[in-house]
Amino acid sequence: MSVSANRVWDAALGRIQLQIPRPTYDTWLRNTHALRLDDNLLVVGVPSAFAADWIEGRLQKLILDALSTVSDQALSVKFVVGDENPSSLSAYSSSNSQPASSIASIPNNEFSSEYSFSNFIVGPSNQLAYAASYSVSLGSHATYNPLFLYGGVGLGKTHLMNAIGHLATTQGKQVIYVTAEQFTNEYLRAIRERKTETFRTHYRSTDLLMVDDVQFLNGKEATQDGLFHTFNELYRNGSQLVMSSDRPAGELRLLEARLRSRFEAGLQADLGVPEFETRLAILQSIANASSTAIGQEYLEFIATYAHENVRTLRGVLNRFFAFIEFTGKKPSYDLAKIALGPLLVQEDSNSFGIPSILEASAKAYRLSVKTLLSPQRTKEASKARQLAAYLLKIKLGMSSEEIGETLGKRDRTTINYALIKAEEALVKDPHFKKLVKSLDSQAPDFNTFTDTTKSA
Ligand code: ADP
Ligand code: MG
Repeated sequence: MSVSANRVWDAALGRIQLQIPRPTYDTWLRNTHALRLDDNLLVVGVPSAFAADWIEGRLQKLILDALSTVSDQALSVKFVVGDENPSSLSAYSSSNSQPASSIASIPNNEFSSEYSFSNFIVGPSNQLAYAASYSVSLGSHATYNPLFLYGGVGLGKTHLMNAIGHLATTQGKQVIYVTAEQFTNEYLRAIRERKTETFRTHYRSTDLLMVDDVQFLNGKEATQDGLFHTFNELYRNGSQLVMSSDRPAGELRLLEARLRSRFEAGLQADLGVPEFETRLAILQSIANASSTAIGQEYLEFIATYAHENVRTLRGVLNRFFAFIEFTGKKPSYDLAKIALGPLLVQEDSNSFGIPSILEASAKAYRLSVKTLLSPQRTKEASKARQLAAYLLKIKLGMSSEEIGETLGKRDRTTINYALIKAEEALVKDPHFKKLVKSLDSQAPDFNTFTDTTKSA
């Protein structure tokens, strides 16, 4: 079986992420990585023994369930501490597994080539962050100092930092990457062990310091003090600083004002949720790197529905790959739907399908959607509304109230009446019947998407 441990774990994580609260996921699972798949045993690296215990104690069942869903074969899982696999991005957060007196931040040249600039797909949502990151790796822009990257989880902050580290290292620069959590642990330990001088020397010697997820420092005053001094010293020496955070610096309320203003002084670049084209390009680049061929239509399907963040997007595609490889089936919408899982249900309760149904119904009677939703009561408009109401009910399972709300704020009785008329028309009016049928087949989304949502 050629399925990599990584792919299975990624697929399982994508699923689990949707089932547990985000903070739980971020705390315990975000920094884990698959190490290998030995027969049926998946070995997963975690940052600390404590994390291993916690995950085993509370998440084991959920994890096994997710693994069985994505792999079709019974897998067991073992959690080990540390990074047997230095090429993995998340292996960086293994500070807790280091001997107590060493400095755990990433030394030069351990940046993974997997998370490079060339693997980072650029679009309007992340253009500035990308360009600025590239520029600071080459040391070409003093004004981008510090560079403050911010954006929600899974949008590429750590990827860019890794890319910066990789490129800057090849330029002969001394680079340190730490998570804010690691920085905190090291700093507090240095104080405890009276080794603040070692700590300072270590950080002072670098050309480029990156601190990931600085929102972690919120409220941690002692560490903020440590970072402030480190920051100033480096800045004075002309070293480059790069920070990342899940929100703009100005919104880090529990950060001392002096540190916040340091963060705000350079360039702040945000990473947003990528739009459809960028999501599709990301999927294409992953698919191109894979040996399994996947039709463009499935990538588009996934890009339409997995729009939360890039991590989820990758998780869904990897799950799709895993299904194909494990089951030996051909790619299909059905498998894609299973890979999307709960994402499809979420979508269904929102707005997907509604615009297309309204448009198609209005168009069928040569009306605009505006007229469809207006009080106008011509015969055509009534027919178009009956068609829309019927499709909204059958295809999206909407209640009469919801349909009324959607169709220009009409009341339930009006909609019930329209639905009765539609049922009648299906029997009596061949034109109407033909329309329903052709809209059905013309728009596979109506069928494929809704049916699954019920079963997925
Ligand atoms: P963050 O640190 O912002 O939470 P990560 O950098 O860990 O997010 O990104 C999550 C995943 O998504 C990683 O696998 C990363 O490689 C991928 N990713 C994010 N943005 C992009 C992008 N623009 N192009 C390609 N992959 C991306
Ligand atoms: Mg990150």
